[in-house]
Amino acid sequence: MSARTERTLTIPFGSRELRVRVDEPLSRYTTFRIGGPADYLVRASDRPTLEFALEWAEREGLPVTVIGGGSNLLIRDGGIRGLVIVFRAAGEALAGVLEVAPDDGATVVTLPATAPLSWVGHRTSELGLAGLEWAAGLPGVVGGAVVNNAGAHGGEIGAVLVDVELYDLEERRVVRWTRDVLAPRYRMTELKAQPRPRRYVVLAARVRLLAGDPVRLLRTAEEYARWRREHQPTGPCAGSVFTNPPGTYAGYLIERAGLKGFQIGRMRVSERHANFFLNLGGASAAEALALLEAVQRQVAERFGIVLQPEIEIIGEP
Ligand SMILES: Cc1cc2nc3c(=O)[nH]c(=O)nc-3n(C[C@H](O)[C@H](O)[C@H](O)COP(=O)(O)OP(=O)(O)OC[C@H]3O[C@@H](n4cnc5c(N)ncnc54)[C@H](O)[C@@H]3O)c2cc1C
Repeated sequence: MSARTERTLTIPFGSRELRVRVDEPLSRYTTFRIGGPADYLVRASDRPTLEFALEWAEREGLPVTVIGGGSNLLIRDGGIRGLVIVFRAAGEALAGVLEVAPDDGATVVTLPATAPLSWVGHRTSELGLAGLEWAAGLPGVVGGAVVNNAGAHGGEIGAVLVDVELYDLEERRVVRWTRDVLAPRYRMTELKAQPRPRRYVVLAARVRLLAGDPVRLLRTAEEYARWRREHQPTGPCAGSVFTNPPGTYAGYLIERAGLKGFQIGRMRVSERHANFFLNLGGASAAEALALLEAVQRQVAERFGIVLQPEIEIIGEP
């Protein structure tokens, strides 16, 4: 029998119901498998559910936090106050929904924020559209990738982005930000730079892709995905913990500082890739933060470089 009592509220909307989970552990929604409780949590895989959840939060006077795949987040043990919306969908459910339009020799594709990034990498390659092959094998969804300007193998979402469709929680309306306003740079955008609770929810992103040979694109996408399986650790983690400082790699510095395999509590620096930290099972955010700070301190002492987190650290201590 579960020690925890599952509590949900059911709120009717139209012919449907909004299921609101109460005191929901966020460790269930992050790839680190770490995170205290959300006061309220809604899983939304489509826009009507998202909009209704936002309306409900406004009615209840709750701050809103939107997350996607939870693969770039360290949520503290005290959890998140207000409503957390997990805005993601299965790729298969989206098979028919990619909007594709010709644009002066290229193709503009509208990607829903809920679309899994890896699925997008494979699907666009299959369609003979070049520019997102690097996304194959990456966890997370388009919403999170836009906020973080995710990228790999020399590509990044910002490089192909035309604009993003956002819901403005202050003005209660949909707005569009061009790529220039979003200002994507290395693992940073104007959305990621905003304080919380944030004003904007990513609804969709339009990307401009060039024509390519689907067989070659798919082969490249699959090679990238295989490379990940072979070179990155498996197990609960959040990818690279730190951004790479100019001219060097965070993983290289951590390894040179002798910290591969270094462990605090149930958190360990991966032996396979020193910029990945692994939750060995049941780790707390406090342990993850202690490891992060210890690694940061030791690398700074050894090389005079203060590593900056790439992951976002959110929630209450
Ligand atoms: C094994 C592993 C490997 C990885 N490798 C890479 C890599 O090679 N390159 C790379 O760039 N990243 C990598 N990552 C990190 C991560 O996968 C990406 O940054 C990913 O794009 C984050 O997406 P997400 O949906 O998980 O975002 P989340 O972690 O859920 O959220 C990230 C941020 O976006 C916000 N957010 C999410 N959705 C929305 C929305 N709809 N509206 C508004 N805000 C939103 C969240 O509040 C948060 O601020 C890796 C992670 C793992 C676990």
